[in-house]
Amino acid sequence: MDWVVLGAEELLGGEARKLKASIEETGFPLPAFKPYVYRVLLEQKSVNKETLAAMLAKLRIKGLTSKVGPNESVEPFPAEVAFEGRFLTSPGKKPYGIPYEGTLLQASLRPLLKKAGFSRLPSLPVVLLPDLLATFEPSDRRYHLRMNVLGFPALISIPGIVLAPAKPREYYLLKQSGMDPAGLNRAFKGLFIDHGDPRLPRVVAGLAFQALAYARTGNAFCDDAGCSLYNAHWHHELISLYGPDEAKNTGLSRGIPLCPAHSRMAKDWKVTP
Ligand SMILES: [Zn+2]
Repeated sequence: MDWVVLGAEELLGGEARKLKASIEETGFPLPAFKPYVYRVLLEQKSVNKETLAAMLAKLRIKGLTSKVGPNESVEPFPAEVAFEGRFLTSPGKKPYGIPYEGTLLQASLRPLLKKAGFSRLPSLPVVLLPDLLATFEPSDRRYHLRMNVLGFPALISIPGIVLAPAKPREYYLLKQSGMDPAGLNRAFKGLFIDHGDPRLPRVVAGLAFQALAYARTGNAFCDDAGCSLYNAHWHHELISLYGPDEAKNTGLSRGIPLCPAHSRMAKDWKVTP
């Protein structure tokens, strides 16, 4: 088994079947599906609940414009630890808002997942999360929201898919002019991937494939804007990959788009484990 996707049922609900169908249809090796990462870690007794809750509370980033990340030596407030503890086994109910430091979260999860029997390959864990993730960008010296963090384990932020890629410029102009969020979402419906969007499971499948490609080849990205390994930074790029029209895009068994080279690569992986 090449890879394991954790948390699909909890975070995508009934849409998890679309994620599985997309992966299967694309023709790359089907991962094992396991419960949400913290459930698995607690069941395997890799860590206890209090330690996990404190670990997460320490990784919150208080402001995206801050030039320094969270200071792990500073004890979090008890209310923050209690908040994390409450949602460790019920991620579907966890509200999002404050982002977590993606690189530090990945580093914190690495030894815990190793202890629970996961390895880089052959059992690369791809962890779906209900949290926003941000990583520091040295070029402009600030934090940026991310859809995913590649490596071991690979992290995919479900709300990050909605919030990290840039929306049409008019969206931000209207937002600045004071238009209310609900009105904005109505005006731009279909022009960005939203929560509950039928395209969301396929975006997750594409990001999961990036994680697997990175683990197997050291390179996650493709220059072809029609390939799921393209490093999309805009919603319109995601939409050109996964379909402009929600109504026509509800089919169950649709693979994700791959360029000819990556399509061949995926099929080769299937026959040579
Ligand atoms: Zn490609």
